[in-house]
Amino acid sequence: MAVATSTATLRTLHRIHRQLADLDGRLAAGPRLVTACTAKLTAAETARSSAQDDVKKARVTADQKQLQLKSAEAKIRDLEGKRNACKTNREYQTLGEQIAADTMANKVLEDEILEALERIDSLKSAVPAAEAGVAAAAKALADAKAKVAAEAGHLESEVARVRAELDAVERELDADIREKYDRVVKHKGADGLAPLDGRSCGGCCQQVTSDMAAAITVGRVVVCRSCGRLLYSPETSSPT
Ligand SMILES: [Zn+2]
Repeated sequence: MAVATSTATLRTLHRIHRQLADLDGRLAAGPRLVTACTAKLTAAETARSSAQDDVKKARVTADQKQLQLKSAEAKIRDLEGKRNACKTNREYQTLGEQIAADTMANKVLEDEILEALERIDSLKSAVPAAEAGVAAAAKALADAKAKVAAEAGHLESEVARVRAELDAVERELDADIREKYDRVVKHKGADGLAPLDGRSCGGCCQQVTSDMAAAITVGRVVVCRSCGRLLYSPETSSPT
């Protein structure tokens, strides 16, 4: 009778340990979710800053070129003045060539300014999407924090309830089994226990000897030689 009780108790304990492992996993998932959402927000903020910086840099480039053009135009006006006032034909011609060359250079500069302005427009169009990305990531983070906080309270009280249940059921174990159980559960938690699955350990799938299988079937608790789990008989042999 004692062995049958132990096997049923181990079955219950295994269920409780799995439940605790599941609760622990769900509790640990909360902070991980918040960390992941925080990283996404940081990435979205970086993307927004870089989109804004791109626009700023393009503006600086366009402004510089416009200033450059202004001073080049002033230089041409100056050359034109000199040409009008010049005394020799040769001087007139040299100044004319200089003006023509500078005018050509300014045309290239004007094209570059046009390109720079178009580039500003195209870079500006990426900013609202980057801003929306930040807003979405910030909302996702706030939602995750709220969800995790709401769940944590419930999960923690579940853990307390299940631990109390565990303590109560553990007290039902016979002393000799309790010792083995404590040792294996301390190291492996829920993985310290496994049902016999046919002729194999339900934890590591290694076959057990026929003697071991027979002992388990009559309700004895046996240690798997391969993985060290405490093996117990599955439902069917329990005389409930
Ligand atoms: Zn095993």
